[in-house]
Parts: sequence; structure tokens; C-alpha cells
Amino acid sequence: MPILVVGAGVSGATLARVFAEAGYAVTVCEARDEPGGHCATRIDPETGVMVHFHGPHIFHTGDLATWAFVQRFGAFVPYRHRVEARLDGESYALPVTLTTINQFFRRDLSSDEARRTIAAQCLPIEHPQNFEEAALANIGPALYEAFFKPYTEKQWGRPARDLPASVFARLPVRYTERADYFDHPVQAMPVAGYSALVETMLHHPKIDLHLGHTVTAEIAAGFDHVFWTGPIDAFFGHCYGRLAYRSLRFVHERITGRAQSVAVVNYPARDVPWTRITEHRHFAPHCMARGSVLTREYPFEAGPDDTPYYPVRLAHDKAQLGQYVVAALAQDRVSFAGRLGTYRYLDMDVAIREARSLAHASLAALRRHARPPVFAPEVETCLSAQPVLNLGQIGRKAPQCA
Ligand code: UDP
Repeated sequence: MPILVVGAGVSGATLARVFAEAGYAVTVCEARDEPGGHCATRIDPETGVMVHFHGPHIFHTGDLATWAFVQRFGAFVPYRHRVEARLDGESYALPVTLTTINQFFRRDLSSDEARRTIAAQCLPIEHPQNFEEAALANIGPALYEAFFKPYTEKQWGRPARDLPASVFARLPVRYTERADYFDHPVQAMPVAGYSALVETMLHHPKIDLHLGHTVTAEIAAGFDHVFWTGPIDAFFGHCYGRLAYRSLRFVHERITGRAQSVAVVNYPARDVPWTRITEHRHFAPHCMARGSVLTREYPFEAGPDDTPYYPVRLAHDKAQLGQYVVAALAQDRVSFAGRLGTYRYLDMDVAIREARSLAHASLAALRRHARPPVFAPEVETCLSAQPVLNLGQIGRKAPQCA
């Protein structure tokens, strides 16, 4: 049974690998001329710096099975991600920690005192319904206005009160001096970069990789089953309208010497047009680099020809997504995975975990001569909660859409 995987990012590469190892012939088509998707890395020929071309990617996870899986495809080095926010000429530690609180309020509070000070400022919102409410309930107005509201509104191009509370929940708030950006026990970088990691995943006698290859309906028709990791709305020809995505313009600059003491410096101020500057050499201190490469990120609303990096997922987008989910569930030849295929703000480890889950559920279905699931089982549960979706009522009937 020939399988087609569309997209050679971490989700597509994971699906292809699991199927290839199960003995299936897998064709992978990637529209770009290199694998790796949005985590692609390249060595800059002039400086020798490993550059994260689509923004900083740090592998971090609490899922040991995913960690064991990725380590099969390349060596990793431990890496603790550190981020600073530059505001009014000062550098603050991020996420918000005891250090940030003391510096911002010009105090020397203990952990308990800081907790009480912030609790006294927080708004009593028991079930925050959006980003702004989540921030006001957890860190109070002063820290929110300084570090989160303007940054978030630059990044997403919308009022913070319109964004989901889950975006705020991505970052911890700590009453200790621990400065790591992430809480996960595993935090690491692939020694040879993410592109090499994904290339190794795709290097298998059963995998046939086609780069620079856009998949048409005719090509897809030649396969028994298709795994689609591109935007779900693009698969359906945007027949219910375009889902909203934020894109990024990256401005790379080579410099001599070094510019930052940490890999990423955020600029929350409204009057600074970029959101953050990445200095890539921090990600790979083992690389022999002469000089440094900095990248500024300028967010904007993705148009039809722009790269969709972040699914927006406002209430309206979720309703529209529901229509695409219904369309997806009504057909039986295509499964969807990944950040774009499921229109969710996924980290790499979750994308890989879900792709493995979808692949294993699909293999089990095929062994029973049943059709593979449309989404990984845990993803279908999550997407079925979309506002317009009532799968019981819809009964998986064909929608008015190709
Ligand atoms: N955020 C913020 N200020 C910051 C860093 C993050 O307001 O200095 C908010 C912003 O809305 C961002 C979200 O927190 O989109 C998640 O941050 P994360 O660092 O996870 O973003 P990513 O690296 O995925 O772009």
C-alpha cells in the first residue's frame, strides 16, 4: 500500500519514518527545496554559525518516549534556553521570576514576600477567558503592561484580550531565581542541527523524498493514503475562507564579535518594531564560528503568499476551523497532522508525539483493513470541541466542500 506524506517538517518526517520502519513504501513531497520545515537550520558559510532560519527552536520535553525517539536520529547536547527582555535600557530575566520581580519593583523580596506582593496586585479572575485575563490573574497589571501586553499585541496584531488564555500559559511564572525559559526536564539541541536530524529521519530505503514538489490532487490520487502536514485550509482550497496565521519577516545580520549574553532578547516596547533578536551562536557553542549572526523578527498578518508560522485561533478562526474539521472527517483518504495540519500552536515535541500516535493508530487500523484515522486520536478529541462542531449531529456526512 503506497503512502504519501505531504511536508518534510518534523511531523511529516516522523510519520514517514514510522511507516517505513513498518515496511510501507513512503513517498514524501516537500514544496521547499530542503527538509526540516520551520525548524530548518543551515550553517552560514561566512561565519560558520548554525542559523535557525525560521526562528529559534529549542527541543524541550517531559515525554521520555519522544526524547528516546528523536535521539535515534542524531546526537543532542544539553542546552538551557535563556531569554532576556530589554526595556527602557535595562535587561530583565524572562520568564517572570523572583529576579525579574525584584529588579522591576526595585525591591529585594524573598520568594514568599514576592508571592504576596504579586498576589495583592492580581485581579481575582477565577477562570480567565483570554490572554489578558490570564495575565492579570497571574502577574497583575504592572508586569503585564510592561512585558506582555505590548509584546503580545505586536506579535499577534490583535488586542491581548482577544487571544486565548492558553498562549499566556505557555510561559511559567516562578518565585525562584531559576532562569531557564522552560520547565521541562529535557532541554537539548541536535549537535548537527534540526535539518540534519530530519534528513536522517527521512534517510531510509523505503522513503522516497521529493523536494521542491507541490502536491496536486492528481498526484495524491495515486496513493492509497495521504498524510497532510500543510495548512488544513489549503488542503480544501480555502473553500471556507482563509484561516488566520501570523507570519514573520526575518532580517539577518552578520557581525564581528558578540552582541548578546543570551540566545534571545525580547523587546516588549511598542515603539520597537521587532519582537525579538536571536543570536544564533548560543544554540551551538560546539560549532567553530568566526563572528556572529543576529536575526530580528518582524511579525505581520500572513497573506496568501506568506509563510504561515502561528495559527491565530480566535473564536472566529475556531468556528472556521470547525468547518474544515468536519470536511476532514467526512473523507477517508487523508489524515492531518502538525501545527499547520491541525491549526494548533504546537511545540516540536508535541508535534512529534502526535505524529507517532497518528502513525501507530493508522498502522493498527490498516492491519484490521480499516481506514487510518483522520487525526491522531487525542487530536480528534481536542478538535471536536470546536464551536460549530457536533459530530453526533453531523454524522460525518460529506460537507459542501471539495
Ligand atoms: N510573550 C510576551 N512577552 C514576552 C514573551 C512572550 O508577551 O517577552 C507572549 C507572547 O504572546 C508570545 C507568547 O507569550 O506569543 C508565547 O511565547 P513563546 O516564547 O512561547 O513564543 P514563541 O517562541 O513560540 O514565538
